[in-house]
Amino acid sequence: MQLDTLSGLTATLPSPSKEAVQVRMMRELFKRTRESALVGFLPVILIVWAHWEAQPRGQLLWWAGWALAVLGYRILVAHLFLAQPQAQEARRRSWFWLEWLGAMALAAVWVGSIRIVGTGQIDTLFYLRLIFIVALVAFVLSAMGIELRLYASFLTAMVVGTLLMLHLEYPAFVRELPVVNAAFVAYAAMLLIRSRGEQQRTHEWVRARLTQRLLLDQLNQTIQQELQMHEALRLKTMELEASNRKLGELATRDGLTGAFRRGHIEGELRRMVKAWERQPSDFSILLLDIDHFKRINDAHGHAVGDEVLRQLAAQAQQTLRGSDLFGRWGGEEFIALLPDTALPAALEAAERMRLVIQRLEFQGADGAVFGVTVSIGVAQLEAGVSADLLSQRADTAMYAAKHAGRNRVLAYQPGQSQRAPD
Ligand code: GH3
Ligand code: MG
Ligand code: MG
Repeated sequence: MQLDTLSGLTATLPSPSKEAVQVRMMRELFKRTRESALVGFLPVILIVWAHWEAQPRGQLLWWAGWALAVLGYRILVAHLFLAQPQAQEARRRSWFWLEWLGAMALAAVWVGSIRIVGTGQIDTLFYLRLIFIVALVAFVLSAMGIELRLYASFLTAMVVGTLLMLHLEYPAFVRELPVVNAAFVAYAAMLLIRSRGEQQRTHEWVRARLTQRLLLDQLNQTIQQELQMHEALRLKTMELEASNRKLGELATRDGLTGAFRRGHIEGELRRMVKAWERQPSDFSILLLDIDHFKRINDAHGHAVGDEVLRQLAAQAQQTLRGSDLFGRWGGEEFIALLPDTALPAALEAAERMRLVIQRLEFQGADGAVFGVTVSIGVAQLEAGVSADLLSQRADTAMYAAKHAGRNRVLAYQPGQSQRAPD
């Protein structure tokens, strides 16, 4: 392949639109939300179970109910988004805000859990519980990471809320351990940085997937076009073959009667005589001339004469075998080549033909019905006889039939004189 063709190819590589990439990213986000939301039930159950005895039931259940509602909401939004691909692109902003709302509510749930986890006094256990919850929540929510704005909002809400809550509920704790403030902020920043990498990787992956899809579509389209072109070509070839056949027919067949043309039948006669010389067998020909055809033309017109020629040729041909050849020798003269036929059988065939023709009825322009008769000369091929001589002999026999009174079949007699004038 040439270099310019190659560069042309590269130029046509499809590129997914920004919109398409963003919608696809959104789908990834909601898929992760749906998967991780299920895991979100675990810390809720753990917290309720661990504080069942230590905390007032009402407060505990109120918190758990709130937490379960928020988790349920997030699963529902994710499910609704994923279930209707047509609406994903058009209402991308609305979906984002619905998800954002869920994330904020979730931050509130986890900030609220500090009140439950704390038992009024600050001890190591409280501290451990806090770390456990934050770590678990961060793990579950890291799925949000591929949508940075969402994750940043969520982390900010978490950090600000937690610090606020600690200051309000446990001021002593914060005062004694100021490092806690810094630790929370640092932890959130770390999560955000990590998720930036995650977002970039997902973005690249989504772009690659979409490009691949577009490429496959393009390929499929090209294949379809190729197939259509192939089909069109096949049809054209068939048309061409059909018209070639027709042309071949036109070249060998006489337009009026459909019998072989003189040139073709003469060629066939020469070919058969040559084959006979190598391998002799019975071979005869017959030559037919319509009697007083001029009178028919004169009485009924040329068009009726043509119709007579057409019907006569068709009927005469019907009396022959499939291996026989029938051609138009001249104006109203026809020839038949009869392979594997000795003189007696050829005479029979000629007689059969003569009778069939005699029985035909034609209608003149004036409505009068008339018939025609033919004179037929028959000759069998012998050693030393050429194609020309054989047809001459049949011609001689035919003229002898004319002289003998027409409407008859005669075989060539050795020594018979050539065509005599009428
Ligand atoms: P004969 O019995 O001696 O054969 O008498 P004939 O009238 O048939 O005489 P001939 O064979 O010499 O006449 C042939 C006539 O056939 C002359 C010509 O007008 C006519 N003819 C030749 N070709 C065609 C054709 O294609 N259509 C029509 N309608 N007539 C033709
Ligand atoms: Mg004639
Ligand atoms: Mg004639």
